[in-house]
Amino acid sequence: MTDPSDDLTLQLGITSPSPEQPLQVDWENIASYQVFIKRDDLLHPIISGNKWRKLKYALLDLKDRSVPEVVSFGGGYSNHLHALAYACQALSIKLIAVVRGDYSQQLTPMLNDIQDWEAEIRFVNRIEYKQRDDATYLATLQAQHPKATIIPEGGSQHLALKGLDDLVSELERDYDYVLAPVGSGGTLAGLIQACGKHTVLGIAVLKGQDYLEDMVNRLMPDDSAKSSWSINHEFHFGGYAKRNAELSGFCVEFQQQTRISIEPVYSGKLFFAARQLIAEKAFPPGSRILLIHTGGLQGSR
Ligand SMILES: *Cc1c(COP(=O)(O)O)cnc(C)c1O
Repeated sequence: MTDPSDDLTLQLGITSPSPEQPLQVDWENIASYQVFIKRDDLLHPIISGNKWRKLKYALLDLKDRSVPEVVSFGGGYSNHLHALAYACQALSIKLIAVVRGDYSQQLTPMLNDIQDWEAEIRFVNRIEYKQRDDATYLATLQAQHPKATIIPEGGSQHLALKGLDDLVSELERDYDYVLAPVGSGGTLAGLIQACGKHTVLGIAVLKGQDYLEDMVNRLMPDDSAKSSWSINHEFHFGGYAKRNAELSGFCVEFQQQTRISIEPVYSGKLFFAARQLIAEKAFPPGSRILLIHTGGLQGSR
């Protein structure tokens, strides 16, 4: 019998496992460490990076239960909706995308794509969007779409964590630190629960001291084994999708030096943080450090 997860990986054209490469840069103090990068950006041109990790077991579950319809949430540039819409079309599942803000007069490139992939887009205002996790709001949505499965924003839910287990089991060497950007927290929660011997360090991409820690904690069962972890809040550059010339310049320079593309919303903040923490010798000398490239290049179009 074939493994259903292999079937899905084949059906969607996922290139797995993703490469694990030494990071070759001229950063200050880089020689004091062994720094590797996990290239989840190369998993798939559209279902990229951590969105595949977080959606894999959710998609398997949908297939398993022959779910005809999915409802999910995101902003106008959402990597999650983009990945999900592509996967849903491939699996003949109808997606209803609840989008924050009204882009009906001018679709973003992301919304254009998901419309081409036959997603039904529903624009809602900020006030309605804020209710996306409220039980009564979700019950109303469910009543409107009785056959649908609702997937939370960013795909961050319990079912998402197992996909990060896969990432950790693919690793070819041991690490002392694993670094990843934090948006809705699912990726970090999964890395913490996959529980290697490493310490997990999240880099917050939005202003959310305590709020992000609470979200990560809420995603993990209380009795689960966990790696030690923390979130650094010094590199959000003023908030979600906020940037300055220094960060934009860093992304360009990084791409020139490594031939690896990054964008300023997630991966740019992660690698910027890594450069600074390494320059400051924030890790003990000799530490083995893994940086997870979570993908997401479509969002910067
Ligand atoms: C969504 C996303 C993240 C954030 O992951 P969370 O699990 O929501 O914290 C990080 N990087 C990229 C490229 C993303 O698209």
